[in-house]
Amino acid sequence: MGDRGRSATRADPGRAAAFSDAIIAIVITLLVLDLRPPETEPGGLLAGLLNEWPTYLAYAASYAYLAVIWMNHKAAFTRIREMDIGLQWTNLGILATLALVPWPTAVIAETARTGNLADERVAVALYAIIGALLCLSWLVFFSYLARHPDLTKEEVDDSYFARERPRALIGVVLYLAAGAAGLLIHPLMASVIFLLLPAFYAFTSHGFDQRPAVFRGGDRDDMSEAAARRRATEGPYSSCSPSEPARAKLERMTISETDLVHLRRAVELARDALDTGDGPFGSVLVDAAGVERFADRNREATTGDPTRHPEFEIARWAATNLRADERAAATVYTSGEHCPMCAAAHAWVGLGRIVYVASAEQIAGWRRDLGAPASPVSVLPIEAVAPNLPVEGPAEQLVAEVKALVERAIRPL
Ligand SMILES: [Zn+2]
Repeated sequence: MGDRGRSATRADPGRAAAFSDAIIAIVITLLVLDLRPPETEPGGLLAGLLNEWPTYLAYAASYAYLAVIWMNHKAAFTRIREMDIGLQWTNLGILATLALVPWPTAVIAETARTGNLADERVAVALYAIIGALLCLSWLVFFSYLARHPDLTKEEVDDSYFARERPRALIGVVLYLAAGAAGLLIHPLMASVIFLLLPAFYAFTSHGFDQRPAVFRGGDRDDMSEAAARRRATEGPYSSCSPSEPARAKLERMTISETDLVHLRRAVELARDALDTGDGPFGSVLVDAAGVERFADRNREATTGDPTRHPEFEIARWAATNLRADERAAATVYTSGEHCPMCAAAHAWVGLGRIVYVASAEQIAGWRRDLGAPASPVSVLPIEAVAPNLPVEGPAEQLVAEVKALVERAIRPL
């Protein structure tokens, strides 16, 4: 809690990622504007179209370059935990240079139409300079992250972004070399290198040498089923990484300030429960208008009924007190992720979104570490029980509080 002042200048990377996506989408679309019908005499269309091949080559190279940038940008952002002002600006630097890419592409297309070799040499040199600038902007971005490991996620190796820097540096050198080759030897030579460079970046994506094990492959094959499903429904930034903590941290970005208010209330209920000798868990049911409709805390010890979980009580209360559409629009905030019994009850009565502070896996891990007996019920994520529920958590901001409660429940002070 001591870093509250610092965190005021820090932001969740979600907006920067969304903004970057929008810019990349626009820029990649602008490229196609260079593809125009050739000006030909009647009967000369085929020759005219074939004549435009340098334009197609430039389009392919630029498209591939931007596509690879998007992939790498996405890969980088899955590792970023927080954005500070410096990181925002270095990211904007990448966007500023990549937004330039359609310009040299158009210049190449235009000079190809005039067919003047001297102009073509200058055009590929211009393209090379922009390409090198773009790599340079990545170098700045990677260097910034390498110097600020506190902005990356815990599970990301602190040397990861330092190891990414050579890729960017190689790009600067190779683009400049391609430009020199185009200027001094032949523009076609530069164009071929322009096409090959994105391939290099595509093949070396996700890391220059050893990648952190949790990210290896970085894609579907080693993602959990639930994470895969979530990504399919929530878009590329919601969950690209396979590890549970990484997935959880990414989801944190969808937890709003309003959510946190309700989650804090759930944590307070958990504290009340612990203070009276019950399990340290609390939950709140909030309707679509944001009004708390029902809240409860664990009552296992005080009632002698091990099914008296607050989430289960909420499901039962909602079944008798809310219409089906009200239940579907309601959100359950809870200090700890639903157990399989409560997840099933929640799904059976048709309740909506769940936001939790600590995951079932986290809680099970803390209990295990303190030698507490294992739960008689399997530890499963909600998605494994009720695959269609929108679920968000953990809420990193409050995890430490819940952990302290869970530990106090096992080892009273
Ligand atoms: Zn439960």
